[in-house]
Amino acid sequence: MAQGMKIPLVDLKLQYQAIRQEVDAAIQAVIDKTAFIGGPFVKKFEQDFAGYVGRAHCVAVGNGTDALVMALRGLGLRPGDEVIVPALTFIATSEAVTLAGGKVVFVDVEPQSRCLDPQKVAEAINPATKGIIAVHLYGRPAPMAELNQLARQHGLWLVEDAAQAHGATYQGRKIGSLGTVGCFSFYPGKNLGAYGDGGAVVCDDQELALRIRMLANHGRTEKYDHLMEGSNSRMDGLQAAILSAKLPHLDQWNQARRKAAAEYVARLGAEPLVLPQDVEGHVYHLFVVECERRDQLLRHLQEAGIGASIHYPNALPLLSAYRYLNPQPGSWPVAERLVGQIVSLPLFPEINPAQLDYVGQTVHSFFQK
Ligand SMILES: *Cc1c(COP(=O)(O)O)cnc(C)c1O
Repeated sequence: MAQGMKIPLVDLKLQYQAIRQEVDAAIQAVIDKTAFIGGPFVKKFEQDFAGYVGRAHCVAVGNGTDALVMALRGLGLRPGDEVIVPALTFIATSEAVTLAGGKVVFVDVEPQSRCLDPQKVAEAINPATKGIIAVHLYGRPAPMAELNQLARQHGLWLVEDAAQAHGATYQGRKIGSLGTVGCFSFYPGKNLGAYGDGGAVVCDDQELALRIRMLANHGRTEKYDHLMEGSNSRMDGLQAAILSAKLPHLDQWNQARRKAAAEYVARLGAEPLVLPQDVEGHVYHLFVVECERRDQLLRHLQEAGIGASIHYPNALPLLSAYRYLNPQPGSWPVAERLVGQIVSLPLFPEINPAQLDYVGQTVHSFFQK
């Protein structure tokens, strides 16, 4: 075994090296034009990304959390309105509901997709429910057909939190084009990452897009004509230019992620692990396996220099942040079990066979002990 190999969870340097000239030129062009906030580079990225996702409109914002907040505010969320979110996701999903003035309602996930369980969503819907946020967790599309049907049936909106699923597809359509609105984060480690913070909201409704654009820019359309109070959540020109330079590579990077995932399955198939279910259109933001002796396996991997990690170590409703909701342990059995068994293995488009071998051998040696 290759002793002393160090494999990070994600390696952003390799990607930069591969596209250095394009990125450096993009950065220089923004500086030459001093188009730092908004301006032509942001406009171009909005057009590029709307076209890529297959939506009429894209509003670039400051980060993925704000994309969700602006979308919810744009949809007219009112105090007391309930929004259904999965019990297994990054806190930004539920945080956005609270920041937009709504009430968070946590619903359990499915054991295989690890995304919102439509049956349990149906049980949680009541007259105060205004919408659902589906998270395409780890790059795996959520069950959108079932969720859209529920949304239609009950007159709810359906927001896609696509922060982990740029370029993923569901029944042949791009993630982000399936619900009422799609929200993206371009945090550097995401499948499409900026060199700082960034986010975007995509939708087809022109008025909604305009409202979101105003909310993200102090409630104005013209320089000092403010129709309402909004906030400051704009994408900067450098991030937009970098994202436009990176976008043409996204599909190829996602292909490389899918290939690496298949290589993991070939190496780990015989181990006593639950491997992620492969479905069409999955873009493997993370490769998450389940193990009954998770904590020991995680320690074993980390001691071998492998940057394995946990996404996420706690069921969201049981975090201290949500004590005010008086959550009852046992209410989200699937999420509560998963957080004790999941571990994310290193996966990035440039991961090489020697690295995959080393991870595979290290996992194998754990079960030999
Ligand atoms: C990263 C992430 C966000 C938030 O994005 P930021 O750009 O970091 O604000 C929201 N939801 C999910 C599921 C994420 O993974």
